[in-house]
Amino acid sequence: MSAPFPLAPSLWAATAPAALPTPPIAEPATADVCVIGGGYAGLSTALHLAERGVRTILLEAREPGWGGSGRNGGQVIPGLKYDPDELEAMFGQERGGRLVAFAGATADAVFDLIAKHKMDVPHVREGWIQGAHTPASARTVAARAAQWEKRGASAAFLDKAETERHLGTRQYEASWIDRRGGAIQPLAYARELARVAVAAGATIHGDSPVASLARRDGRWIVTTRQGISVTADQVVLCTNGYTGDLVPKLRQSIIAPNSFQIATEPLSDNIRKSILPFGQVSSDTRQLLLYFRLDHEGRFLIGGRGPFREPTSAADWSHLERVVEKMFPQLKSVPIAYRWCGRVALTRDFLPHLHEPEPGLVIDIGCMGRGVGLQTAMGARLADYVATRNRDALPFPVLPIKPLPLHPLHKAYVSAIIAWYRLTDGGVKAAA
Ligand SMILES: Cc1cc2nc3c(=O)[nH]c(=O)nc-3n(C[C@H](O)[C@H](O)[C@H](O)COP(=O)(O)OP(=O)(O)OC[C@H]3O[C@@H](n4cnc5c(N)ncnc54)[C@H](O)[C@@H]3O)c2cc1C
Repeated sequence: MSAPFPLAPSLWAATAPAALPTPPIAEPATADVCVIGGGYAGLSTALHLAERGVRTILLEAREPGWGGSGRNGGQVIPGLKYDPDELEAMFGQERGGRLVAFAGATADAVFDLIAKHKMDVPHVREGWIQGAHTPASARTVAARAAQWEKRGASAAFLDKAETERHLGTRQYEASWIDRRGGAIQPLAYARELARVAVAAGATIHGDSPVASLARRDGRWIVTTRQGISVTADQVVLCTNGYTGDLVPKLRQSIIAPNSFQIATEPLSDNIRKSILPFGQVSSDTRQLLLYFRLDHEGRFLIGGRGPFREPTSAADWSHLERVVEKMFPQLKSVPIAYRWCGRVALTRDFLPHLHEPEPGLVIDIGCMGRGVGLQTAMGARLADYVATRNRDALPFPVLPIKPLPLHPLHKAYVSAIIAWYRLTDGGVKAAA
């Protein structure tokens, strides 16, 4: 067996402000609501509950932002995987229309919170560009831009030449720009959410992995691995790609593959000007999508799918290094300074799932690798629902938990799908 790969800190861990101390829970406590998981979903729920005066305790296994929320690409992208017309066809005009309005405003949720609480989070809001990797996907993004424009969003189709001018690569047939999008330093944002949630009155405990959930006399007993319990009227579970076995069949209802990222050190001014010169962030239409941007200090970073297992050596990121050389030859001799990865949660219908398997146990899971805006906005809705018990507060229907068929085989299945998509997506072309 190969030796474990010594994981260096991610770019975000190396550049985020220090975390607020969140000591483990040391003695039994009571609350109105216990939130499990300290990513954007849990932290936003805790913040919005505390702002309503609801007594809230959040238990996080490691530290706020340890999961996807501290590891992601920091691209703030409104919308879901489905286009507005598709959502209205799936959910009906009325519910679908509300869902489109919710999905279209998820980036606002992030930038509004940053402004409202004067958060110390490097951010920029110049838009998100989705590159189309084939002529067929160029038609798809043209329709996507038109659908969002029709609903009042600041969006536009970019032809091949305009796409190249905005991205700095000839890889794409066309693209669309959604000016509602932007970028944040993701771990800084998670840590700031934790700070403002505590300032609003929430209690947050790190290093407090929840080991069991039990219902007694109409209340929930949430017990950590250290044997300390929180007694609460309601529980909100937000463990997403890091979901374990607290709730039967929940882990089996998602697939949680790893997404891998690499980043350079700050680029020279000349090179910096040649990539995303107008400050947008970008991802593409591939099934195994590539996402890339510059950070607030001019480092280039790019991410994409890698092995399902945890990485064992730097070679597990080499596919991304090859992509960089082809897409941006000017980066060929720029060394890679950071390599990291994290788990995303995918559902069978590519929609986020809400569950309430028992009264007062509310679950939010599955954000398809697009959770910065979504989970921030979802936290506000979850808080609204838990405080009022009005299901209209929730953007998605509450569904029973359905395990995926043959879930034990999912690692092999995902590896096969990744290999298939690598073939069908077509390779990244070498720059002409
Ligand atoms: C590499 C990568 C790149 C991504 N890029 C983007 C992007 O650019 N834009 C975008 O919008 N989205 C992106 N995403 C997705 C986004 O990061 C996630 O959707 C979002 O962070 C999920 O937030 P969350 O709060 O639901 O879950 P998480 O942030 O994963 O938080 C779950 C938390 O639950 C805790 N937990 C688990 N079990 C327990 C337990 N038993 N007790 C207590 N705590 C527990 C974990 O420690 C973890 O901190 C990316 C994800 C990854 C991994």
